[in-house]
Amino acid sequence: MKTLNIAALAGDGIGPEVMREAVKVLRVTEKKFGFTLNITEAPVGWAGIDAAGKALPDATLALCKKSDAILFGSVGLPDRDPTIPKEERPERAALLRIRKEFGLFANLRPVKLPKALAHSCPLAKERQGDGIDILVVRELTGGMYFGQPKKTEDLGGGNFRAIDTMVYTTPEIERIAHVAFKAAQLRRKKLTSIDKANVLENGILWREVVTRVGKNYPDVTLDHMFVDNAAMQLVLKPAQFDVMLCENMFGDILSDEAAALGGSLGMLPSASLGLPRKSEGSTESRPTETVFGFYEPAGGTAPDIAGKNLANPIAQILSGALMLRYSFGLNDEAAAIENAVAKAIEEGNRTGDIFNPNETGARKTGTREMGDAIAAAV
Ligand code: NAD
Repeated sequence: MKTLNIAALAGDGIGPEVMREAVKVLRVTEKKFGFTLNITEAPVGWAGIDAAGKALPDATLALCKKSDAILFGSVGLPDRDPTIPKEERPERAALLRIRKEFGLFANLRPVKLPKALAHSCPLAKERQGDGIDILVVRELTGGMYFGQPKKTEDLGGGNFRAIDTMVYTTPEIERIAHVAFKAAQLRRKKLTSIDKANVLENGILWREVVTRVGKNYPDVTLDHMFVDNAAMQLVLKPAQFDVMLCENMFGDILSDEAAALGGSLGMLPSASLGLPRKSEGSTESRPTETVFGFYEPAGGTAPDIAGKNLANPIAQILSGALMLRYSFGLNDEAAAIENAVAKAIEEGNRTGDIFNPNETGARKTGTREMGDAIAAAV
């Protein structure tokens, strides 16, 4: 039996409430399918500052290092102690630190609009086609956000010159392309690679390398699209996309555009993956290949609704499903959770963010009740 070591870091605001529901659903799935989850909870964010004086306490970081995956809630409370400097506040001291520490180079953001929630999508129904079900795979550690030189020069006379540099190497493109092709194999086997090969040197290299990597995945249909057209196609005909592969900045923009089609922040999970690695806590019974991953909802701590049983736990629950699929290769188990979410929605369960009073058969449910409905459906 597989033993999977998971660090569960709930964080602040709605984090603990939605994490509780995600763990509940994971435990039911564990029982049903017969794998073993070793879930250890630890404080992070303001909870870390309160418990150990640091947004990412040493013990929490040590736990992450010996885990196979991190299931993360969210951190940050804008109204807490303004005297604490930016570098020590949770968003930087915990979140950015973890992303850097674990070399997370691939960001995966699935956007799925359940048919029953068509009303919560900003696009007209006829534009939604057969349904929106897109996975944006974004390169996270290269491109314009990190390329050197990166500076602002004083030209004198009140004028400046700002320089950002877009840089990609063949290996950086290869590794993210492999992630995207493998993800496409688990879905509808269609990959659209986004670039700007008509203008950028980076785009030409990107297209060449992705095409070459694609030869290893003959079962996946690959096409290429310029980023400006992709931005337009996402709102004109989103159903045409399965997996979209993007470099860092294009992915930053397109993943938010795609997210808006999903109806609510409370529905959107995400995964950030590193290279396959051997964890310090590994046991003989763990699976042969695990990919270290960091799994979190797309939204934040939602202080406006925290502690009131109002938050939608689905983003956190689906982040748990992504963890089973991408870190542990448990595809059927992940699909069972995703299908259970779909069933709970079909049955009419709605947290406030997805509730429409004009919808017949829908009823308002709390965080806990939504978690119960999903756990029951697993
Ligand atoms: P937010 O995502 O927390 O909230 C934006 C809006 O979406 C709010 O109205 C909130 O109620 C709603 N919302 C978010 N998640 C929801 C859910 N699961 N169910 C129902 N409604 C939900 O963004 P914000 O208000 O800009 O940020 C609040 C704090 O969260 C800030 O300190 C910010 O830095 C932090 N933050 C953290 C992360 C992270 O940890 N990854 C991400 C984003 C924001």
